[in-house]
Amino acid sequence: MIAWRNGVSLAAKGILKEYLHSVAKPNKKGPTRTVLISCAQCKAPLYKYRKGGKGALVKCFIERIVEDYTNQPCECPQCHQTFARETLIRGTPAYKMIGGKAHMK
Ligand SMILES: [Zn+2]
Repeated sequence: MIAWRNGVSLAAKGILKEYLHSVAKPNKKGPTRTVLISCAQCKAPLYKYRKGGKGALVKCFIERIVEDYTNQPCECPQCHQTFARETLIRGTPAYKMIGGKAHMK
């Protein structure tokens, strides 16, 4: 009887593990890792952004920006350098980052 109950609980653990794994995966709502993008020149914060995947920041989808600290699109609110350009990526509005103008952490 105890063995049977252990078997069930192991199976339940397996299901739970699978469930948690599927929840942890990036889904249609997009990735959940949030990064802070800041000005490379004056360190002012620019965006809080839900970034997909690993690697360097090349573009920002506008719909994934959680918090926007800028006053003008693609312009640093503090030192007023232009750090990105507005573009469309597969029909979705995005900012294409200009190399070396913004940092991510
Ligand atoms: Zn700046």
